[in-house]
Amino acid sequence: MSKPRSTLLGWFFAPPPRRSRVHPERDLAAEKRQRAELKAAIGPLLALWEPRMGVKAAFWGVKRMRTRWGTCNPSARRIWLSLALASRPPEALEYVVVHELVHLLEPSHNARFKALMSQFLPDWKARKSLLAMP
Ligand SMILES: [Zn+2]
Repeated sequence: MSKPRSTLLGWFFAPPPRRSRVHPERDLAAEKRQRAELKAAIGPLLALWEPRMGVKAAFWGVKRMRTRWGTCNPSARRIWLSLALASRPPEALEYVVVHELVHLLEPSHNARFKALMSQFLPDWKARKSLLAMP
């Protein structure tokens, strides 16, 4: 939570964003806020979809990922979701959540996986395409 800038002086002398020593381009306060917002959105999605699909993740979390929107370890029932989802539409976030939960039923991206996706989320392909938008 950033301090409210109630006065012009307060605004003028507001400190610059706190940045990572290792990755100077990273705004840590913004990242913390995005992480909190994303987690607040994911919780209700899991609460909705887990009973609907008859699955339950043992653990889920949000982290920075370079190449993926999410990962699932089906044997550990552990799901990680990318922090980058904070900048995607809610429909796309829901797609990734359902995708990772389907991995609890089918670990690989085979025909059964796609059939399950279509069963639970018939418009999953359109939602997936929202991930690629700038
Ligand atoms: Zn997958």
